[in-house]
Amino acid sequence: MRIFRFAFVLALLAPLPVRGQAPFAVGTASAAPGQKATGYLEVPAGSDAATGIPVIVIHGAKRGPVLALVSGAHGTEYASIIALEKLIPLLDPAQLSGTVVLLPLVNIPSFEQKVPHVNPIDNKSMNRFYPGKADGTQTERASYLITNQVVDRCDYLIDYHGGDLDESLRPYSYWAPTGKAEQDRISKEMVLAFGLDHIIIWRERPSDPNATRYLDNTAAVRGKPSIVVEAGHAGTVETDDVALLVNGTLSTMRALKMLPGEPYPIENPVWIESLSDVTSPDDGIFYPLVKRGAYVEAGMKLGYVTDFFGKTIFEARAPVAGVVLHIDAVPSLKKGDGIANIGVVATKAP
Ligand SMILES: [Zn+2]
Repeated sequence: MRIFRFAFVLALLAPLPVRGQAPFAVGTASAAPGQKATGYLEVPAGSDAATGIPVIVIHGAKRGPVLALVSGAHGTEYASIIALEKLIPLLDPAQLSGTVVLLPLVNIPSFEQKVPHVNPIDNKSMNRFYPGKADGTQTERASYLITNQVVDRCDYLIDYHGGDLDESLRPYSYWAPTGKAEQDRISKEMVLAFGLDHIIIWRERPSDPNATRYLDNTAAVRGKPSIVVEAGHAGTVETDDVALLVNGTLSTMRALKMLPGEPYPIENPVWIESLSDVTSPDDGIFYPLVKRGAYVEAGMKLGYVTDFFGKTIFEARAPVAGVVLHIDAVPSLKKGDGIANIGVVATKAP
């Protein structure tokens, strides 16, 4: 009798299943309400090999929106990948209102082979070929599947990046206004809640739904508020960088009312209104003179390039005044390679 009564009390304390709420499935991961499931987005073989993209579905016990978190399009931007790995156990379906679809590592060949920037199977960046093609190369087939299985079914999206193996990068995010007032209000709330203190305003983007190019833009063109966040640099997994991405995600989820508690938005971010690239005019060896995050004046020397005999062949100078968002982390340079990226501070907040 005592046991029976105890079981009865436990049944009363357990969260009630949400009536009529179906499992949420992405690829082979299918989670009932209040559950977490893992599986793969299975990219079929085509002109090149098949692949599987790991997916985690966290289906909240309470109703709410669908948030997609995607990392590792560039498989050696490690801090962003590790941040999403840390979020897998942190996100508790019992606490969650809505559903999180988490793709921690889109580009496994890049990760495994330690190849920066591209998918070594077809030599394409996995954040340039959206919305993808069912009959394209592996990158295009994967992008097509992500568009249909993840973007089309989410309400909000966050795409995670960072400095690649050869990039020394200071953390920043992108906010890309679309001209649709309500969507832009929500994406701005997301980027402020995420809390990174430098935010790039990204205005000129493709608007054709069949040629959206970037993942977050694919979501934005389809009416879903989305942001891009970047932290980490040059192959490192520093605690501070990972913490920025993990805590920023939790704060954004509070702003979206998917988690209990208050967000902690950044109050006075540095808004960046344009970007200026410095590239190398020739093959050579790069010697930096400033660090990521440095504020520079127009004309200031960022570094120099020598030939293989030690003769200086190029002085890299800042074309504009601004902040060094990233600068080459390694000496290797070939003609046309980027050396640094300078962000010009906006004259007023948007
Ligand atoms: Zn990236």
